[in-house]
Order: sequence, then structure tokens, then C-alpha cells
Amino acid sequence: MRFALALMAVVTAGPAAAQQNAGGTPPMLTGAEARALAAEISGASAKRTVQALSLHHRSRGSEGFRSAAEIVRDKLGQYGLKEVEMIRVPADGKVFYGTQRSRPAWNASFAELWEQRLEGGRWADRFRIASWADQPITLAQDSVSGKAEGELIDVGAGISASDYAGKDLRGRLVLTSSQPEAVARLAVTERGAGGIVSWAQNQRQAWWGDDETLIRWGRLSTWEDPAFAFMVSPAQARAWQERLARGETVRLRAQVEAGRSTGAYLIPTAVIPGRDRSSEIVFSCHLDHHSPGANDNASGCSGVLEIARTLTRLVSAGQLPKPERTIRFIWPAEIEGTIALLHARPEFARRTLATIHLDMIGGDTEITKGSLRVEGSPPSLPSFVGDIGFAIARWVNAQSLAYHDRGVAAFPLIDASGGKRALQAKVGGFSEGSDHQIWAEGSWRIPVLYLADWPDLYIHTHKDAPGNLDATKMKRAMFIAAASAWVLANLDQERLAGLSPVLGTETLERAAEVARRAEALGRAGGGPAEQANLWRHFFAQERAIAASLARFGPVPPKARDEANRRIEGLVQALAPVAVPQPASGDTSYGLVYRRAGSPKGPMTAFGYSWFDDQLEKRHLERPTLLSREPTWDGPTFGYETLNLVDGRRTIGQICDDLAATVGFVPVEEVAQYLGTLERMGLLERSRP
Ligand SMILES: [Zn+2]
Repeated sequence: MRFALALMAVVTAGPAAAQQNAGGTPPMLTGAEARALAAEISGASAKRTVQALSLHHRSRGSEGFRSAAEIVRDKLGQYGLKEVEMIRVPADGKVFYGTQRSRPAWNASFAELWEQRLEGGRWADRFRIASWADQPITLAQDSVSGKAEGELIDVGAGISASDYAGKDLRGRLVLTSSQPEAVARLAVTERGAGGIVSWAQNQRQAWWGDDETLIRWGRLSTWEDPAFAFMVSPAQARAWQERLARGETVRLRAQVEAGRSTGAYLIPTAVIPGRDRSSEIVFSCHLDHHSPGANDNASGCSGVLEIARTLTRLVSAGQLPKPERTIRFIWPAEIEGTIALLHARPEFARRTLATIHLDMIGGDTEITKGSLRVEGSPPSLPSFVGDIGFAIARWVNAQSLAYHDRGVAAFPLIDASGGKRALQAKVGGFSEGSDHQIWAEGSWRIPVLYLADWPDLYIHTHKDAPGNLDATKMKRAMFIAAASAWVLANLDQERLAGLSPVLGTETLERAAEVARRAEALGRAGGGPAEQANLWRHFFAQERAIAASLARFGPVPPKARDEANRRIEGLVQALAPVAVPQPASGDTSYGLVYRRAGSPKGPMTAFGYSWFDDQLEKRHLERPTLLSREPTWDGPTFGYETLNLVDGRRTIGQICDDLAATVGFVPVEEVAQYLGTLERMGLLERSRP
């Protein structure tokens, strides 16, 4: 505790004027920089772009995606960005980008589902249930052309043979509660059903299932069991089920014109050139998804575009200097587009010092029930980059709360057309769920800052509409992202030296979290060795975070000394509880792996899993580790175990690190998973 008191003394020292202004002075930025950003960046402008993007059904490789990408590219040109380009990465279903099999483009031109009624002795179309022209989300992605006219047969979940017992599906339509992908083989390929009607639910949260009118986004396999499928609401499904239960016939007619073709991943990009062209700070998002897809992810895409406009304007007007490092902006399709890009343009990964990823930043929390999360890199990639965003987000939280409570703040960050509530962003940690996990994955290890709403009642439904967004929320999220980028892009020796106090506060935040975990472990019956492992990991992590400054250039000796003093001071202060233990598995599981040079990329991506494909081809058993649920908030076992393979850690040490960050796991499970990856040729032994 000696250290903590010393730090407080430093923070609160100074004249009365400094104390009065402390709240209104942003961390790491000058007042002039923060004022310029806050005045220029517009939530309303970003929301207008959301409206434009949301009109397009943005499936990877589709005409809708192209339209959205052209909107982005054209605006980049109008705003005066440099090196505006539409990167085109071929996608034909055959070419691989590392572990990602490229998915062919998917387009639809017509799709209608009609309910029929008997009129004058023959069946006639009466009610149009779904229409591509009205609501493209009603047609499941990867549907193929086809026609069907016949009775609707309810197969329930439709994922086992017993769901189909005694049912004749030939030429008929099946009603299912599962995703079309899960039933296409049994219903269509094997039993000859004409098509699928699905009311599948997904994205569970506290409000899940409350709104029975929601039509959710559906999908079929890109590779197998060609079929078409329509998506309907649970209310529609329920109404049909009641009629079927009364013995009535429900008869439908469907017609679909859609299919896959050779295409490309289009990725608009542009830069604000820095003095140094060899290193870049990247803004990323994902441009694909269904229409409207307003919060997910027209909001992140529009946010990146508005940040590009804001910084370009401020630099050209002389309100901000030309940045030291180049700032790049990209709009790929989620996960698969990023993996393809990092292979097609390997120089992007080489130059990128940090990636700031925006995915769902606009939800009006009274409508969507979510909150903004500001998160960093996975524990396997200790980096100070997240801490920059965390410190700015905490400050925006405090400013917005002051305004919310008292109507006055130096930086309320209010948009005239938006709300006034406090931001209440949840700051810190890591979770998977978007392209940031690709940048940070063990193949590339690029530190990330990730801004995303969670949950959102309307994610992946027809009601994820622009009206759910709050311009003030967007402005604040964009401010956090833009200010973080500005700090990172201009991190010279002077700014590096000034970071120490800010990084110190984030160390203390994490120390508190580790203390809570240790206490929870104790309550649950955990022994001192497990608690000590948490602290061992914490100190190793903090030393690595301090060392990560070197990624941005030589660390001034003063900054390095301060970081060391800070961490060693904490070791002293916490010594009674933090007795480092030797890694438990070291003797029995001393095997060390490293990743083979190729293929790069995650084991599972969108629409294709390299890992599952390899399991099948090589007749290997699915490792138990992949079904294990994490104990702690953070990454999954599969993702983080592979990330921890670095040519240095033993299997035992990987296990110890997992226990501190994901959850306890028997060392045999880790050995089985890594052994499976070795058999697939993905890992090789560093030493026997
Ligand atoms: Zn998303």
C-alpha cells in the first residue's frame, strides 16, 4: 500500500487552480487537441451515413455490399483522404487465405413466400409472408434458386431423424426452430423437402424471446446441401403451429432467384499520411451484414468514416498537425474479409502498430438495453494500447456523468440531435466477437482497442434500424476512438515519457480485479497456490505491458524506470498475498510448441472452419478443451490456448496462464488440443 499512497500524493499535488481544472483536462491529449476533436466530430453526420448504408443488404461479395463500399469510397474522396482505393481480393470458394477458405459472392434478385387459401376449389396466393424486395433479411443467406408449393410440415428442431419420423416432406416446406443450415441436410438433401421456413432464435440475453415479432437473420451452408430458406417471426410460426394442431392445412408457395458466383471481397481503404510512412494506426470495422443492420455494423462503419473526415479536416485546417504516423481506415467483411486482407496485403500487418476496431457503437441504451464496451487485447498479447483507450474512456465516462448529474461539464460531448444520459461505458478486459480477434490472434499479434455495444435486443433482426441509434452515444464512442488514435499516432519520446502516470492507474485497476478474482477463488474453496498463480500472472503481465511500449520506439529511460518502480512497488505492497509459485505442469508437461509458418489465421472463421475440416479429413477426435466453458470474463479456451503457443511456454506454463485468464483446465486437455494441432501440421515442437 506504500506505493498506492505515494501515487495519490503525486496525483493530487498542485495549486488550487489545478485541482479545479483536473476533471476537465483530458488524459494524454492537450486541451486544444481535445477541444478540436470534440467540436468537429459529429454524431448526427455519422447517423446520416448509417441511414444510407442500412438501405443495402450487405452480404459478402454481393451487389448490396458493393453499393455500400462505393458510398464509403466516394465519401473518402469527397473528404480529401489520401490513397483512396477499393481493394479487391478474389473469392471463388476455392482459393484459401491462410485458414480462411474464400466464400463465393452471394446475390439474390427475387424471393417471395406466399400463404395460399382455397378459392373456388383451387389454391391461390392470398398473403405475402416474406419478400426480398420488402425485407431482404427474410431470405436466409446462401439460399439458392428454387420453387416449392405445398403443405407446411412442422419438424420442430429438425436436427435428428426422430424429428422427421412419419412425415412425408417431398416437395413440401418444413417449419423449423433451428437455423436453416442445421436442418438442410436432413430435410432437403435426404428427405426431398422443397424448402425451409425457419423461426430460429439467436443472440441470447436477458430480454431474449420477449419480442415475438422479431425476424432474425438466417443462413445456410455455403458449401453443402443447397436449399432455400425463409425467415419468419416466432409469432408467425406460433400462429401456423396452432392451426396445424387443430388439423388445418397450411399451404405455402415459394419462389427464389438467388445463388453464389465467383466474386471478390471489396475493401475500401484510405489514409491520412503521417510523417513516418513505415508505421500505421489502423481503424477497422465490418461493412457486411443484413439490411438494415444499423447498429451492427453500419454504426461502426459510419463512425470510422466520420473519424476519417474529422481528422482530415482538422489536419488540413491546421487545427491538428500532420500526424507522426500514418492513420489508415478499412471497411472489410467481418472476419473473413480481414483474414483475406491480411494475406493479400501482408504489408498491412507489417506496418500496423495498433488496430482500433468499431463494431456497434451507436445503440440508444434505452432501446437496445446495451452498454458500450471499451476493451483491449487478449491476455496472451499484453499491450499498453488498450490502456490508452481505457484512460480516455474513463475520462469520457466521468465527463458525461458530471453533465448528466449537474448539467455542467467541460466536455459533455453532447450531439444536438442526441440524448444527454451518462455514457456508462464498461471499460477494460477482452472479449471475442469481431475482427479485432483476428488482428490480435497468434498469427499476427497486433494490439487492439475494441469498442462495441453489448447486448443489443435487435441485433441480427429486422428491427436493428437507424432509429435505435443515439447521436450523442456515437459522438462519445467516436471521440474515445479518435482521441486514442491521435495519441498512438503521435507517441513520440515526450509523449511516451508522459504516459507513466496514466498506465499506473490502469495497473491499479487490474490489481483490484485480480484481488477480486483471488477472493472469489478463496470463497469457492481455491487454495493459496491457485491464488498465487493469479498474482504471478498479474506481475508478469504488468511487466510485459510496460515492455510493450518499445513497439512504438525506444522507451525513454525515465519512463522505463518509473514503470519498473511502479510494478516492484506493488510486488512489495502485495507480497503477503502474492507468493509466486513455480509453474505447476513444468516437470510433467515440459513440451514447447511453436506455430508453423503457415497457414496463418484462426482455427474457425466465418462460414468455414479450417480446424473442423482438418478433423474430418484426418479422422481426428474433437479435443475436449473446445467444449470447456471459461470461468472468467474473457477469451475462450480454444482461441487463447493457441495464442499462448509462442515457442517459449511449456504446456504446463500455458495451463497456468489459462488458469489466471480463462479458467482452470487439466493439463491433459491442453496437451490433447495442442497434440491435435501438431498432427494437423499447424504446430511444430520447439524442443523435444
Ligand atoms: Zn458486428
